[in-house]
Amino acid sequence: MNERYDVVVLGLGAMGSATAAHVAARGGRVLGMERFGPAHALGSSHGKTRVIRQAYYEAPAYVPLLLRAYELWDDLERRSGEQLLLRTGGLMVGAPDSEVVLGSARSAREHDLAHELLDATDIRRRFPALRPRDGECGVYEPNAGALYPERCVLAHLQWAAAAGAELRFGMPVVSWAATADGVQIETKDGTVCEAQTLVVCAGAWLGRFCTSFAASVRAERNVMHWFRPRANAESFAVGRLPIYLIERAGEPVLYGFPDISGDGVKVAPHYTGDYTDPDELRRDVAPDEVAAMRERMMGWIPDAAGEHIASVVCMYTNSPDLHFVIGRHPEHANVVVAGGFSGHGFKFSSVIGEILADLAMLQETRHPIDLFAPARLIGQSATELAAEATRK
Ligand SMILES: Cc1cc2nc3c(=O)[nH]c(=O)nc-3n(C[C@H](O)[C@H](O)[C@H](O)COP(=O)(O)OP(=O)(O)OC[C@H]3O[C@@H](n4cnc5c(N)ncnc54)[C@H](O)[C@@H]3O)c2cc1C
Repeated sequence: MNERYDVVVLGLGAMGSATAAHVAARGGRVLGMERFGPAHALGSSHGKTRVIRQAYYEAPAYVPLLLRAYELWDDLERRSGEQLLLRTGGLMVGAPDSEVVLGSARSAREHDLAHELLDATDIRRRFPALRPRDGECGVYEPNAGALYPERCVLAHLQWAAAAGAELRFGMPVVSWAATADGVQIETKDGTVCEAQTLVVCAGAWLGRFCTSFAASVRAERNVMHWFRPRANAESFAVGRLPIYLIERAGEPVLYGFPDISGDGVKVAPHYTGDYTDPDELRRDVAPDEVAAMRERMMGWIPDAAGEHIASVVCMYTNSPDLHFVIGRHPEHANVVVAGGFSGHGFKFSSVIGEILADLAMLQETRHPIDLFAPARLIGQSATELAAEATRK
């Protein structure tokens, strides 16, 4: 007889670690399987920091989930005794009609979130490291900040293990198959186990395990860079510089962090269009990629563009409309899918663990997830969906 679990979680990155923790904490018999080690740097959840913010430019529908995510991060901090979230404030900058500015202001207004509207002069005065152009403006929110992603994943894994989850690392899943009353999962060493529900949290590898989405969910190579400021180092300290996003016409959104723990100033582009097979990801960073980043910094945060410290490659998993893909598999009632986080999922991982535990154990959730319905991806090609998203 194969071992039978209430829930098997495929992938123990940001979403899978949180799911295993929530299922185990509710008394479910759960097995988590991860192909690499705990909190590894080969997927989407590494690189020291992740932005967390509430005035969500992507859509006001995310705000209730964010408010719950903050509560759950606080809860996980208490459980783990570790600091996971650093509140730095956040500044979203662009032309008055840019998506980042309009969308952030809209979410802040609709959900009554603490925020301030700043013009270019205010921004230069308050945050002297930054060089907004005349006519640019910003939405400042005091509750934004940074999460420490590796610590967050480890804290979820520790909570999961303490609550009784079985966690196996270095254990690639090769396939799953629906059975009459559940799902059978096979790992590379030939072991087969059974689950009432399989939760697929495979990150950039989602398409391998949900072939019906494979055409519409794509892995994108993204590079994070760290630099040592060349002047005015004090203006990059936590307390002086918030996390920021800046949108300028014709360029990818640029985002960055203050100098947290003396690691240097981290900056990165949001969406690059550099699509890749996740197993063939180019992990080295060419000198011209560093030079291009330095040049962009000159027009926004010039004193940060000093000595190059490091560059690290990571993967986004983009859905065509850049909204998440969360819910029951449209073709298999015993499979729950969580993927397509499109480069903005980490901050939600605490609440997504709760949602996936709901879906796996109760078949429903009180959280609003209609926007993320997996069924929207089936039968439509990536280009069709992207075109539809632009028309909206
Ligand atoms: C450069 C960069 C910057 C980002 N910045 C932000 C940000 O500021 N704020 C934010 O909210 N989000 C951000 N994101 C996005 C966020 O980090 C991701 O949405 C999130 O980490 C995705 O989590 P995941 O669990 O889906 O993927 P992962 O954490 O990658 O987990 C998937 C896991 O599945 C495992 N797996 C795959 N195949 C198998 C198999 N066959 N068997 C067993 N295990 C398997 C993988 O090894 C991996 O551990 C950023 C992402 C990147 C790359």
